[in-house]
Amino acid sequence: MVKQPRGCFNYRSTIQELVLESLMNTSAPQQATMKSLEAMRKFSETYAKRTGTYFCVDPGVTAVVIEGLAKHKDDLGAPLCPCRHYEDKEAEAAAAYWNCPCVPMRERKECHCMLFLTEDNDFAGDKQVISIEDIRSTTDSVSA
Ligand code: SF4
Repeated sequence: MVKQPRGCFNYRSTIQELVLESLMNTSAPQQATMKSLEAMRKFSETYAKRTGTYFCVDPGVTAVVIEGLAKHKDDLGAPLCPCRHYEDKEAEAAAAYWNCPCVPMRERKECHCMLFLTEDNDFAGDKQVISIEDIRSTTDSVSA
């Protein structure tokens, strides 16, 4: 049966807004360095395969989350979850609870960013890979 991405595209906007809000708290560019982007892309692929989870049926969701993780890695030295609001990002990164993979993901496979989705999730696609080109084709347009 083909999975229906019910509401997925609305959710994509929500995720994008959350990630952008998180990244716009800085005067630095919103996109990550290629080094961090590639590191987080590889991490995401490897972690999805290891946990038996899948990327969202909408690759735009996956793209903005990976870009957000990579940007936090550049700015904070740790891939702090980009889908949350923080009063103090440095303190949160040091606390590590929301560094990806966060504790809810590690303990219960709960990823509220929709980066890692269990097979039974309505939004789960069938992919555990994404290219740099796919990521940047989304984040070039949302960060412009
Ligand atoms: S695993 Fe946790 S930290 Fe990583 S993207 Fe998902 S919710 Fe955010």
